[in-house]
Amino acid sequence: MADDGGRQSSSGGNKPGYSKDRDEAIHKRLKEGTLKLYELEKELSPLDAIRIRREFIEYETGTKLENLGIFSIDIDRVVKRNCENMIGTVQVPVGIAGPLMVNGEYAHGSYYLPLATTEGALVASVNRGCSAITQAGGAEVRILKEGMTRAPVFAARSIAHAKQTVDWVSGHLDDLRAAADSTTSHGKLIDIMPFIAGTSVFFRINFDTKDAMGMNMVTIASAKVAEIIAQGTGARLVALSGNMCTDKKPAAINGILGRGRSVVAGIALSHDLISQVFKTDAPTLFDVNYRKNLIGSARAGAMGFNAHAANVVAAMFIACGQDAAHAIDGSTCLTTVDPTPTGVYVSVTLPSLPVGTVGGGTSIDTQQECLKLLGVAGGGTPPGTNAKKLAEIIACGVLAGELSLLGALAAQHLAHAHQKLGRG
Ligand code: NAP
Repeated sequence: MADDGGRQSSSGGNKPGYSKDRDEAIHKRLKEGTLKLYELEKELSPLDAIRIRREFIEYETGTKLENLGIFSIDIDRVVKRNCENMIGTVQVPVGIAGPLMVNGEYAHGSYYLPLATTEGALVASVNRGCSAITQAGGAEVRILKEGMTRAPVFAARSIAHAKQTVDWVSGHLDDLRAAADSTTSHGKLIDIMPFIAGTSVFFRINFDTKDAMGMNMVTIASAKVAEIIAQGTGARLVALSGNMCTDKKPAAINGILGRGRSVVAGIALSHDLISQVFKTDAPTLFDVNYRKNLIGSARAGAMGFNAHAANVVAAMFIACGQDAAHAIDGSTCLTTVDPTPTGVYVSVTLPSLPVGTVGGGTSIDTQQECLKLLGVAGGGTPPGTNAKKLAEIIACGVLAGELSLLGALAAQHLAHAHQKLGRG
């Protein structure tokens, strides 16, 4: 149901298929409780279900939700795969930063970064970092490691049984690998890392998920693996996720072992460039990074040693259909500034960047356009290369953001920039 502007709207009105009597009857059943909100798609088209659900919520809460009902994305797939009980969409502004020159193993060339954010000054700041990186010849970036994890937890009868369970798994790796790989045509089990805590036994199962971020893929494969372990060892499967995965919580294990794609990006900046773009100098940039990102973060007990890496990760994740809760992983970035004879070498190390270019929210129309903008929509050739390219680009975006904020702090410009750009 597209209106003149090419937009879909579930705001109803006298559109084809709109039936006042039918809608009134459905509203009555919703109010009586004989029809549940989540059952609407069983009787109505997704567009009508969204509209009626929203109307019901408007009525119940006395709140007009007219903007939530205006959207252009194709929701047939979205209501099946991405969002239950849908009532509309929230529009997040998307700004563009770049061009950003990237010299990676998968991403080569100049990119414009889509950043979905409501933080005034963020896009301008990243843009300035992109400009410095591009003028300096482009950021180097490398994927260090990849693998998505799920860690079921088992209860053993005793610590001796816990150790036997671990030994059994290490003796049956080939069988477990074959079982896991039978659940997916793309994923491959890489390894299984055991951890024991008293009678609790955790197996951190690690998969190569190619172009998928992989959480669904890995969870399905891990269920198969966990079932076989329980049968073979007598250990009781307590939960398919035992939190040693670790998904959507800041965790040292992800920072040390890596999760998703582990990426490092860096750039050499000359004295001239530091002065021209950031209005500061190499020793000041070094000092700010040392005292803020390293000492300040250590003193605060932070798990990330960076200025605002999660800002760029979150903005690019939202724009590109990634799981926004994984922005937490971006926060564990480590930013370094090394003095060099010609200026500084600045780097960001992101041990845990769960990204994908297929699955999840990547096929939603607007998010898909952002992935296309970066040349990474869909599966890569060979599989896995698009997700790695996306990880490289995001890491370079984080580098741009770190550089710019460090520069602003070094030049004492931060408050001024936010006053000018973030306050309308
Ligand atoms: P998905 O939406 O389940 O789709 C991934 C599937 O795409 C793969 O399993 C694969 O099918 C197929 N595929 C096609 N081309 C591919 C290629 N080139 N490379 C890799 N796979 C390809 O996505 P997912 O990445 O596994 O999971 C992401 C979703 O999980 C997000 O929506 C996220 O919010 C959600 N999530 C789930 C959990 C959970 O515990 N289940 C936790 C956190 C987040 P085959 O396997 O058949 O090859």
